[in-house]
Amino acid sequence: MGGVILNPSAVIPLSRPDITELEMEYVHEALGSDYLSGGPMGKEFEAQLASIAGTKYAVGVSSGTAALHLILLALDIKPGDEVITTPYSFIASANCILYVGATPVFCDISPDDFNIDPDLIESKISPRTKAILVVHVFGFPAQMNKICAIAQKHNLSVIEDSCEAIGARINGQPVGGGGIAGAFAFYPNKQITTGEGGVVVTNDKTVAMMARCLANQGRETGDHWLNHKHLGYNYRLDELSAALGVAQLKRLQEILASRARVAQWYENELQSEIFLSTPGSRIMKNSVISWFVYVVRFGDSSIREIAMGYLAEAGIETRPYFPAIHLQPLYQKKLGYALGSFPVTESVASTTLALPFYTKISKDQVHEVCKQLKNILRLPEITSKFDNG
Ligand SMILES: *Cc1c(COP(=O)(O)O)cnc(C)c1O
Repeated sequence: MGGVILNPSAVIPLSRPDITELEMEYVHEALGSDYLSGGPMGKEFEAQLASIAGTKYAVGVSSGTAALHLILLALDIKPGDEVITTPYSFIASANCILYVGATPVFCDISPDDFNIDPDLIESKISPRTKAILVVHVFGFPAQMNKICAIAQKHNLSVIEDSCEAIGARINGQPVGGGGIAGAFAFYPNKQITTGEGGVVVTNDKTVAMMARCLANQGRETGDHWLNHKHLGYNYRLDELSAALGVAQLKRLQEILASRARVAQWYENELQSEIFLSTPGSRIMKNSVISWFVYVVRFGDSSIREIAMGYLAEAGIETRPYFPAIHLQPLYQKKLGYALGSFPVTESVASTTLALPFYTKISKDQVHEVCKQLKNILRLPEITSKFDNG
């Protein structure tokens, strides 16, 4: 409703970064050093990310999108190649395939965890397929064992878009290090932030060297064979961003624990509601979630639209995460996808909603969101939909 004037202090935002004195000290230190790019903070940040992902190498870069682009370049994925990926994600995980002139081949998701459905992947493999680009959506790890087995059988690379899932684990393995390479992102709405920033993690020395070379204008990194043979980019991570990241990483376990606590507050209040399902019901066994967002799913799309409207009027910010990528105008036009192409994705994308979720949200604020949402779900305009059939 356009006429509602909100009291800004009453607004519960969707997301907020969690910055303390520690972060300010680290950024201050970097500012006072002689390095504003290519210095010790960047090295420290990379070392810690490699440790978190369980990989030998990490290359800090300017965004998660840059990290994904560099991975595809380093794997020499090019025009004529196909990469299988999920249409239920942030658009960057598909766009990076278009950047290198290759074709994204979407594969529908599982309604159980909203990640790529391993049972559908083989039907998407063609002689042109080079890789499977997995997204651990909302910090819920995808079924890496099954996916890697399929990849191995068909000689494909597995790339992990772990941008929403730092610290998540599946079968005891941290995300990011399970395939040939993985990407993390540090935009302000992620679990930890560098302002803008990302990282490539890998156990493959060639991929690591190539990513570093291409992030730095294609400059050689000591090996003659990289001697300005390549078209590089400026995808470097600066020291101020890295310093912010190092401070945030010192607090990573605390931040992840707070987010898990917030998720549990929501679960306690919402899990028995009948017109929605909570993310707690989507946790697969053998997985450790890294809570990125708190996304509920409504019984149908009209309920979501009604709920979004009333929540906005109550000063509660929400967002319909994620719209289906294959239905974005760019993808419909370029790849010819249309409604009906991926029924599970389309059904999920039209019924999911992200509620306010961040480290410092209070129990009272969560209660307020839940109270409003429960009231909405009891309105006759919603309950009547189900009375008649
Ligand atoms: C955030 C995100 C990215 C991109 O990260 P940026 O740092 O914003 O470029 C890529 N993939 C997914 C799934 C993301 O959520």
